[in-house]
Amino acid sequence: MTFEAYLNEWPETLIQEQYTTLSERQVEAALSADRRTPENLLALLSPAALPFLEAMAQEANKQTRRQFGRTVSLYAPIYLSNVCGSNCLYCSFSTVNAGKETRTTLTPTQIEDECRTLAKEGFSSVLLLTGDAVHAAPPEYIAQACTIARRWFSSVAVEVYSMTQEEYHLLCTHGLDGVTLYQETYHKPTYLDMHRSGRKRDFSFRLEALERAANAGVRRLGAGVLLGLYKWRVDAFWLALHARWLQTRCWNSTIALSFPRLKHTPSAFNPPFPVSDINMVQMILALRLFLPESPFYLSTREAPSFRDKLLPLGITAMSAGSSTRPGGYAAPTSPTLEQFQIEDVRTVAEIKTFIEKSGYDPVWKDYDQAFTEAVPKQLQ
Ligand code: SF4
Repeated sequence: MTFEAYLNEWPETLIQEQYTTLSERQVEAALSADRRTPENLLALLSPAALPFLEAMAQEANKQTRRQFGRTVSLYAPIYLSNVCGSNCLYCSFSTVNAGKETRTTLTPTQIEDECRTLAKEGFSSVLLLTGDAVHAAPPEYIAQACTIARRWFSSVAVEVYSMTQEEYHLLCTHGLDGVTLYQETYHKPTYLDMHRSGRKRDFSFRLEALERAANAGVRRLGAGVLLGLYKWRVDAFWLALHARWLQTRCWNSTIALSFPRLKHTPSAFNPPFPVSDINMVQMILALRLFLPESPFYLSTREAPSFRDKLLPLGITAMSAGSSTRPGGYAAPTSPTLEQFQIEDVRTVAEIKTFIEKSGYDPVWKDYDQAFTEAVPKQLQ
């Protein structure tokens, strides 16, 4: 059975019907359950759970401390390219949203410069990103970028177009250990409406990509939905089903979740289903209680004060000092097109200080790797 077939067993009509009928008693039962079921998760995501946010927050904090202690991992994105052949309505890199800024793909020397700049800040974990343009950034180019990044960092992940298992394997042999790939929305009609043309339009190929990555040897998988594209209570439920599906099938890999919320979009696009702060808090709490062992990532898309409030509610990794344009660290004034505007513009040192003052330990290195993966031969 594929995940897509499993997803079809939970149609939106069934989920919405549950949301309208769930009672506070079922929320209380979900809160006190041990290993929570999809039915428990529906209760925690439902409007009936709103009076229980404080109790959910306490339980989420307890679960997170039990699994992760007081650690918060820090990472940074490196944009390798802003060239893209897809047309996603919400993205500045889209073919139709092109402004006057430069489109570029970093050379190996420029990638090295970006890595050097971030390594000086103390980072040991990075995420390499490209648009969806195989002609500008083919798998061999991304593999070369992984090799360069592994000279500087202990952990290298990519957030690029969906690949075949063979392509993911190629990246693994060049030092890759993580793949982040958001489905954007699990609601297929909305997905097709938002992704009008280009390779990304293939819903099913994207949906199965994380399993292909795991089968190729990728140790860390990252899933998420783009909050604002569809009804958050429905998409968050489908996302959680996907994460648990991956946990049971890809048991060699860790399944992490991210919570990218659409904010600074191209002027012609308004998110059709805006997600409020309180919605986002409920979603993160419910997902933490359903997936206690999953790392939760929070990017600089969110404002500093909100990121600070979310930290004790289940977040275990944060980006810091981020740039969303190619060359943005070594050449910060370059006129290259950025993907989106970040809201948390604090320096890395400021974020580190905040984490410490909150009673947490900022972690730069991925220690898991020492236990689970040998350094690829060609890198020794
Ligand atoms: S979301 Fe990705 S694939 Fe879509 S336009 Fe932006 S960079 Fe390209």
